[in-house]
Amino acid sequence: MSLEESQSLAGSGCGRAFRILRPILMILMGTAAMIFLIFGDDFEARAEEQASSTYTSESLGDVLYFSTENPQKSQQELAADQAVVETQEAQNLAAAGVITDAAGRRLIPAGRFRITGYCPCYICSEGHGTMTSTGSRAVAGRTVAVDPRVIPYGTHLLINGHEYIAEDCGGLIKNKHIDIYFNTHNEARNILFYTDVYIIA
Ligand SMILES: [Zn+2]
Repeated sequence: MSLEESQSLAGSGCGRAFRILRPILMILMGTAAMIFLIFGDDFEARAEEQASSTYTSESLGDVLYFSTENPQKSQQELAADQAVVETQEAQNLAAAGVITDAAGRRLIPAGRFRITGYCPCYICSEGHGTMTSTGSRAVAGRTVAVDPRVIPYGTHLLINGHEYIAEDCGGLIKNKHIDIYFNTHNEARNILFYTDVYIIA
């Protein structure tokens, strides 16, 4: 047998071994993925001892590991993997008492607030017009006045599904009370309700 023949035989031998091993590897990886899905709760329980962010990066690491081991994964399979990671992350955050919005931002419950409205008129704005206490111009749909001891200036707030920024205060706005800025007194004057407010982290 020549050197070339033995090399080519060795080469085909390796190829055949890989063809035999590949389905076994794929079954092993599939089984590992199923175990991960079935016993995910156990992993989660164990992970509670650690910071939830640590567990998130670990579970992301597992999926990245699977992806690099099988470069022929379809887009659908990759999307499914991603959905599993995202669901797991949401479950981890929910277990830690953290709520997320549709964009995945963390929502920290700030409690139930009294919500009223104000406008730039002399009475509502106490003579300040559209000038807020933080120096910005008040913008309807964005500006709310808060008690800065309760909600720090610059905080983004979710009120009734709408995002506002705490950038003003008011002599009558104390404790769990938020005043929403409107352009006109007619819009502002009838606003009065109580709702759960969330800080967008
Ligand atoms: Zn007014």
